[in-house]
This record gives sequence, C-alpha cells and structure tokens, in this order.
Amino acid sequence: MRVLLVEDDELLGSAVVDGLTQAGYTVDWLRDGGQALRALSNDEPDLLVLDLGLPGRDGMQVLRDLRARSSGLPVLVLTARDTVEDRIAGLDAGADDYLVKPFDLGELTARLRAIARRRGGRATPVIEHDGLVFDPAARSVTLDGESIALSSRALAILEALLERPGIPLSRERLEQILYGWGEGVESNAVEVHIHHLRKKLGKERIRTIRGLGYMIPK
Ligand code: CA
Repeated sequence: MRVLLVEDDELLGSAVVDGLTQAGYTVDWLRDGGQALRALSNDEPDLLVLDLGLPGRDGMQVLRDLRARSSGLPVLVLTARDTVEDRIAGLDAGADDYLVKPFDLGELTARLRAIARRRGGRATPVIEHDGLVFDPAARSVTLDGESIALSSRALAILEALLERPGIPLSRERLEQILYGWGEGVESNAVEVHIHHLRKKLGKERIRTIRGLGYMIPK
C-alpha cells in the first residue's frame, strides 16, 4: 500500500518513513503543502498522512482543496494542534482520522490499517479468501492453516489484489504500489512476484486478464 507523508519536521518525518516502511508500506515524503497538492493532482497514493503546520500551503488548505476536487483519498491528519476545536475542524474538513503529536508509531500504523479496512468495506482485521488468510497487522499469510513465507514485495502485491477482489490491477499500478518516486523500477519485478505467489498459493489464485492486468477472483 502506498502512503504519501507530508511533514516538514525532518526528524519526525524520517522516523515515520522508517516506521511505515517497516510496517510494509511504500512511502513517499514531501515537506511542503503546495508541492503535496501538485503531486496529488498527478498521482494519488492509497493513503495520505498530513501534517497541518506546513510551508507552502497549510495542511487544512491541502485537505480542503483535495475534498473540493472530490478526492476520496483517505487522509489521516498528524499534528501538534491538539485542541478539541482543531480536531473537530480537521474531521469536518474531510480527514478520516486525526492523531495528535507526540504519538506512537504503532498507533499510527494501526489507525492506517483501520482506515484501509473501512475503505475496503471490511470490519474484520484479516482478509480471507478461499482458504487464504492475510493479516495486515502481522504481515502474515496462511493457506489452509499453514503459514506461507513471502517477501515484503510479494505481500504488498497480494494485499493490493485481495483488497480489490474481482478488479484487475495493471502492472503499472502494481509497480506504483511497490516503488516510491525515487526508486528505480526493476523490469519484470511484478511478473516475478506474481510467479512466486502462484507457486506458493496455487496457479488459479491470481488470474491474468489480458490487456488489463492481474486479478484475484471474487
Ligand atoms: Ca509541521
């Protein structure tokens, strides 16, 4: 899952990038609200983690602009503005969640998982599919009760497909989930991970849809 972090504090920002990367997210990091808005008009991530006190454009303006253009992007506000009025204003401006600094990285990742669940219309913390159980918190997979070892990138692809059963995801979309802006994309990486996933989970689990990409059937 791809997260855009907008945070101008260098220490905090790098700690969040490390924590989210360890939790299995692909993270891009911007320090300026204006840059974030420009980036978001080209390419939407799966989740936005947004500070409020930012150079360029204030985080509240970023949030209002996003919602004014009808973006449904899930947004978690991460801020030192801790009054009840601030929290109400943030949520009413379209934030999905609001976390006050200082915060615990474990709580941040748990809240992001909760947002992803709601977006997927799920109440259960694990995703089940025909004998396969994916646990986003533990980053673990079992098939018919047996634990299956997968690389973090293969897990990220599996998660993306399981989140949208019946909807094909293109190779380009899967590459975006695997790689941040600065990273070079290895050619064939997606095909290689799909091959491994099929080997471990069964050929029929992931279908190739000609011209559209890969899909896990509903
Ligand atoms: Ca700030």
